[in-house]
Order: sequence, then structure tokens, then C-alpha cells
Amino acid sequence: MSAPILLRFIATFATVYTLLLTVYFATGLLFFTNQPGRADKIQPTRILPDAKVKRDIQQSVRSLASIAAMFALGHILYTSFHVGWTAWPANIWSVPLSFVLSMIAYDTWFYWMHRLLHTKPFYRPIHRWHHLSLPSVAWSNNSDTLLDNMFLQSYWLAAHLILPVAPAVLLAHKLYDHVSGIIGHSGVEHGGAITYPPSPFNSVTHHDQHHRYFNCNYSPHFTVWDRLMGTLHKTHDAELKDNLRRRQRANAALPDI
Ligand SMILES: [Zn+2]
Ligand SMILES: [Zn+2]
Repeated sequence: MSAPILLRFIATFATVYTLLLTVYFATGLLFFTNQPGRADKIQPTRILPDAKVKRDIQQSVRSLASIAAMFALGHILYTSFHVGWTAWPANIWSVPLSFVLSMIAYDTWFYWMHRLLHTKPFYRPIHRWHHLSLPSVAWSNNSDTLLDNMFLQSYWLAAHLILPVAPAVLLAHKLYDHVSGIIGHSGVEHGGAITYPPSPFNSVTHHDQHHRYFNCNYSPHFTVWDRLMGTLHKTHDAELKDNLRRRQRANAALPDI
């Protein structure tokens, strides 16, 4: 790598890492709940011990650096070395269309890689760390090992090369994935009407069940792969309806200000 390209890599890495850290702490602070007995908690009696909360925050800060480095590497390969597909020219149609294309591609990548990480040879050395937080809290989203990120999060390097999607759209998608992932670990059903079964959109219950029941609910954005492959937990739809109702009741019980 020549000096200007190395500098560009460092600048891209620093920008993406700063953005990911800022969104992590802002969203984490907003959606962190860990007290027992909250009426709208998906697992009302369970809390995550303080030591595990600290472990998840420290590991997430490390883990986000590796995600930013992979994103920056993909960005430099695409913009400076012109590797991969040229992005569609930006216009009113191509931007939302390429965002959706990236969502579908990432959902597919993550679903199958995640299933692989749940097989015997891969689970213990790579993915077990993430499952040690039960229940998960908002801070647990990026509590992953480096190897885990090299499987699940290497999408952000590859996507620059294998899809005709502009880097800015990929960055917007990564930030969307980051926010929805943090909320998805919060232990309270924030999905709302858009996730009501049989909606294709994932809810908080979807990933909460993954942490509880383990070999089910693998995808990050949509329920489609889980439904097609028979890996959606058998109680998913019924429990989600119940959690959405409980959340609605808890909202209604809030005093008027
Ligand atoms: Zn898992
Ligand atoms: Zn998780």
C-alpha cells in the first residue's frame, strides 16, 4: 500500500470506527434495561450480572474496531484499486433499491454463516462468547470474538466488491444494522406493528429466542430464511404476539405528562 492509500485507509477506518462507537453508546444508553420485574421485559425475572455487562461493553469496543477495519479495507479495494463491481449511478431509484439489495444479501450471508458457527467444530472456539450473555442487553450486540466477526461481519468488506452498491449506501446499511442489532439485544419488544406475525421483519423477540433456545432464529433482518428453512422457533409467532401486546399495555399504563 502506498503512503496516500495507507493514509486514506486510516482516515476511512477512523471515520467508520468513530461512527460505530458513537451509535453504539448513544443507542446502548437509550435502550439499556437490566432491572428485574419490568412488565414489558421479555425475560422479566432475569438480569445480566454487572461483570457480564462490563465484559460486553469492553469486548464491543474491541470488536467494532475490527468491523471498521474490514469496512475500510473493502472501501479502499473498491475506491483506490477498483476491485469489484461498479456501483449503480446514484439516483432516486438506485439508492433505495441498492439499500434493499444489500439488506437481502447481508441477511443471506449472516443466516448461513451463523448456522455454520452453530455447528460443533465452530461453536466453541468462535461463537460461544456471544452466547454467554443470558439474557442479552443492548450492550451485548457487538460482544463477539475477532474470528466471529471474520465470519459474520466480513460481509462489510465483501459487499464493496460483490455488489453494485455505492460505499455510502453500504455505510448507511451498516448503521441501520448497528442500531437494529443493539435494540434487538435489549430484551424489551420494541418492534411494533411492523413486526406483527407473519411479518417478514425481525423483532426483538426473534433474537431474544436465539439467545434462549440457541439452534433457531439465525437471521438479522428478516424472518424469511428461518421460515423457509424451518429454523424459526415453533413458539416464535405466538410469543411475539404476546410480547407486542405486553409492550402495548406497558405503554398505555404510562401516566400522561
Ligand atoms: Zn448464535
Ligand atoms: Zn445476539
